Formats: sequence, C-alpha cells, structure tokens
Amino acid sequence: MDLSSIPPETAANASLSVVLPVLNEAPALATLLPALAQVLGPCGVAWEIVIVDDGSTDTLPQVVAAFERQHAGISMQVLHLSRNFGKEAALTAGLAAARGDAVVCMDGDGQHPPALLPTLVAHWRDGAQMVIAMQRSRAHEQRWTSCAKGLFYRLLQGGERFRIPAGAGDFRLMDRRVVQAMLQLSERARFMKGLYAWLGFRTVTVPYDAAPRCAGASKFPLCRLLELASLGITSFSMKPLRMVSAIGGAISLCAVGYGIYIAIDALVVGNPVSGWATLASGMMLLSGIQLLCLGVIAEYLGYIFEETKQRPLYVIDEVIDHSTLGRRAAA
Ligand code: UDP
Ligand code: MG
Repeated sequence: MDLSSIPPETAANASLSVVLPVLNEAPALATLLPALAQVLGPCGVAWEIVIVDDGSTDTLPQVVAAFERQHAGISMQVLHLSRNFGKEAALTAGLAAARGDAVVCMDGDGQHPPALLPTLVAHWRDGAQMVIAMQRSRAHEQRWTSCAKGLFYRLLQGGERFRIPAGAGDFRLMDRRVVQAMLQLSERARFMKGLYAWLGFRTVTVPYDAAPRCAGASKFPLCRLLELASLGITSFSMKPLRMVSAIGGAISLCAVGYGIYIAIDALVVGNPVSGWATLASGMMLLSGIQLLCLGVIAEYLGYIFEETKQRPLYVIDEVIDHSTLGRRAAA
C-alpha cells in the first residue's frame, strides 16, 4: 500500500479524533466525557469525540444527550452498531468514521487518563506517527492475569521482524497515515495489538498509570481473554503448526528406536515379545497427542473459514453526526 499521497498535517489545520468503543459504560461516560472536553479544549487542535456504541443496552443515549445539552455545539459522532461485535470491530468502526489528522483510541471506562492526551499530541507534533501509551504498573490486575499475559507475549515473540510490546494496549495516538494503513488491513480476525505492531511507523512510547474503572465490571472475562490469546497466536505466529510437526517427528523417531529395540530383544537376545499394557497405554497417549495436534490445526482452519466468508466486520445501525470536523474523502 502506498500512503505517500496523504498530505502531512500542518499546525494551522491539525485536528484530532478521540475514539471510544463502549459496551454498557454509561455511568463511566458521564464522568469521562466532561473530562475529555476539558482536556481537549486547551490542546490547540480542532477535535471531535467518536463514540462507538458496541451494542449497549444501558442509558448511553440519555448520557450523551445530557452531555450535549451541557456542552452546546460539542463536536461529536455517535455510531450505534446493530449488536455487540467486540471491541476490535468497534475500534475499527471508530477509526473508519474518525475525521481527524490524528486519532486517539481509548477505553470508555475511564481507565485511560484523559490528562495524558496533551502529551500524546505533543509527541505527534514532534513527528511521531504512533504514540503508544504504555501501562506502567499493573496494580489493578490480579497476579495470575499479569503472569498469563507475560507468558502469552513471550509465546508470540521471537523471530518476527516486528515486536508486539507487552504493556501496550489500544490506548494510543495514530497519525492519519497509520489510520489509513490500518483500515486497509481487511482481515476479520483483528488482533489489534499485533496489527499496530505489524504496521510499523515512527513510534514513541509514553508511560502511564491506569486508573481503576469509573464504574461497572470488565467486559473481558477469562473465556474472552483466552479467545483473544488464541486469535493473537494463530494470526501472528506459525509456531504452533511447527510444533505439531516437531511433535510428530519426535514421536516417529521414538517409535523407530523402540521398534529396533524390540526386534533386537526378540531376535538376538531371544526374549519373547510381550507387553500389551505398554501397547495400550502407548496407543492412548498417541491418540491424545494426535487429537491435540488436530485441535491446533482446526484452530487455524476455523480462522481461515471466518476469513473466506467475507462478512463485514460490523453493521452500523444509526449514526448521529454532530462533528464540526470536515468530512474526509473515502480512502
Ligand atoms: N468494549 C467494547 N466491546 C466489547 C467489550 C469491551 O466496546 O465487546 C469496550 C468497553 O466498553 C471499554 C473497552 O472496550 O470501553 C475496554 O473494555 P474493558 O474495560 O472491559 O477491558 P479491560 O480494561 O478489563 O481490559
Ligand atoms: Mg477497562
């Protein structure tokens, strides 16, 4: 893809979009939206807030309406997706709708501090195309979650031409070029942290301390995290497939060695061939390993199946557009 035709942003016309994917975050948004408006005002850029409602069933419309009443003329878009498509799809919808020269993605639960936005914008102005807000401490996470995440990133790395930083999440600023490049990645299985890293671009990292949630509970229970981990590994690493081949090779070698041992034991030493118990347990072990390997291959096959269906990533039910930023020509 060639992005060289996108004009560079100039100080006079710089604009910023803040994308918030939300699933039942109305109480948190009631606190976050005024805080954002307060921080964005003095940033020295034209701005808009893009809320992507990922199938919320709470009082989001009322919270947004009350915010708009209190801040007359606020620059904002609200995209209502037709159902819950997942955070990755909601973020992609927000990136496609955003009109700013730079786009900041942040969570709608208040864990990403709006006070960091001026720092992100300052780095962008200094020439960074991607400014990653990197979580400094994981004090709000349980110990086992931090360990599991550390293990996951170690599995994911190694041998690639790009690195997926362990502490980096979706909280980041992206230049228009990065956003356009991101939107051209058409895969359905969107492991966003991997996609950002794959894109590259001039990147700067800014540390921050995550705040506790303003309200509500995490929308990522253990099963969803495991699903995301599987997506991350299958879409960015061939290691599990290579491991399947390695396991197959190792077992075949052991089998040949054991066969030779039995033959020598029977023909040369003269011991009678015995050991049906060894045979039975060996067969059970091998069946287990075979099914495990089939499971790994099926995981990849499942993602290929998803990709071949070519369904859209999300469906937008309704757009409320009160943004003052100029509409962008379609990429
Ligand atoms: N989210 C979303 N769709 C989902 C799950 C989460 O839009 O299917 C949003 C959620 O409302 C929040 C952000 O993604 O604004 C991060 O979610 P959460 O805070 O639950 O994740 P955690 O901080 O626990 O990793
Ligand atoms: Mg959160």
